[in-house]
Amino acid sequence: MAKDLLKLSGLEIAECIKNTEVSKDEVLSFFRKRIDSIDPRIKSFVEVYSEPVKTLGGSNLAGVPIALKDNICIKGKRISCASRILSSHISVYDATVVKRLKEAGLLIAGTTNMDEFAFGSSTESSCYGPTRNPWDLERVPGGSSGGSAAAVAMRLVPFALGSDTGGSIRQPASFCGVVGFKPTYGRVSRYGLVAFGSSLDQIGPITTNFIDCAYLLNVICGFDEHDSTSSRKDTPDFTQFLRKDIKGLRVGIPKEYFSAGLDREVESALKEAVNIFKKQGAKIVDVSLPHTEYAVATYYIIAPSEASSNLERFDGIRYGMRKDASALIELYKKTRGAGFGDEAKRRILIGTYSLSSGYYQAYYMRAAKVRTLIKKDFEDVFRSVDVILTPTSPAAAFKIGEKTKDPLSMYLSDIYTIPVNLAGICAVSFPCGFTRNNLPIGAQLIGLLTQGLVSNRRQIITIRFPS
Ligand code: GLN
Repeated sequence: MAKDLLKLSGLEIAECIKNTEVSKDEVLSFFRKRIDSIDPRIKSFVEVYSEPVKTLGGSNLAGVPIALKDNICIKGKRISCASRILSSHISVYDATVVKRLKEAGLLIAGTTNMDEFAFGSSTESSCYGPTRNPWDLERVPGGSSGGSAAAVAMRLVPFALGSDTGGSIRQPASFCGVVGFKPTYGRVSRYGLVAFGSSLDQIGPITTNFIDCAYLLNVICGFDEHDSTSSRKDTPDFTQFLRKDIKGLRVGIPKEYFSAGLDREVESALKEAVNIFKKQGAKIVDVSLPHTEYAVATYYIIAPSEASSNLERFDGIRYGMRKDASALIELYKKTRGAGFGDEAKRRILIGTYSLSSGYYQAYYMRAAKVRTLIKKDFEDVFRSVDVILTPTSPAAAFKIGEKTKDPLSMYLSDIYTIPVNLAGICAVSFPCGFTRNNLPIGAQLIGLLTQGLVSNRRQIITIRFPS
């Protein structure tokens, strides 16, 4: 093959296919070979299809392979959410994003590993075992879309989709050194995404760069009558933001995101990013999001409450696994007892408790009120700035097993990503440096898209390959 596909972005690969410099089959077999030889070490895939899912059309991304997190329905394919309880379930319909990918001619190559039902920040709660971080195999890739982020970082596929309820696209993107975008709530249809927290969930792209990210957003965003919370606003052409200048852009730096608990190496990488923005003519503005400290507590009431209700359907009767029993309640108990892992059970218990009569007012209702305050913080700040720049995660990737015995410390690591979901706004994580141990560091831009970043991306992003 004349072209070195590893050096090309997704968009460039599609262009080469269009110019007949390379065929779709060659592209596919190139990435399939990479998956076969490298993935046994990383374990980012749950299933690699022997033939990609049939496409129904074309676009400027036609022919580019993409992997989907294992919680997105692809008709006729296995979907498990990395849970024993769903391990033999076959999707009976296509998610709207899958329909859109097929219509755009992208090749769905397989499904990627995740935390069970997307509960987690490390991909360790998967029933298939953990995915490994391509930069250091002893470390987690982040989660819950850890398989998608690791696969893109290792160039096993040019594109992947993840889902983000409290950070699950952005945090693994930051741990693996790639770009991960959480769209505004309602922009991408949730139809066919297995629900975790229905008021928070969004599907989004994971790519190696902003250009691919914008093109992929153009494919997946848009109104869908199958999702009652789908936005009716016109979808912009996301690639227009790639050409805008950074000059005069007002960039807010929230003090609450640069306080105790932030790793020093992450902090200095962020300071460096701020300087680059300044040099490019952006205006740096100190801002405050005063309710940030309540975000984790608020999220860990709202998300498990919605999850406990959404998971009721996995009862051994309607979907997936069933344990035999002589009575109905016993069947539920046995199936759910054996089918769910520890973290899923923990969330079901927390959620059922906070929704139960007598506690609903004290927990769920209260959390809903604090959520409004967090949303208002952002509305206030966006009166004086265009975007907000923060770290994506307080520290770089942690070791496998390091936090599994202490769920609270795992929950606290979501502090910078969760407020965005509670407010329903968009944010992107992009690579902004490396630690001394050669682990990627991610920065997060909240609010207006990728404005200016692409024209300046070479200065800001150090895209490197794990070896
Ligand atoms: N880490 C967060 C959680 O465990 C977010 C997960 C997600 O976004 N799916 O809930």
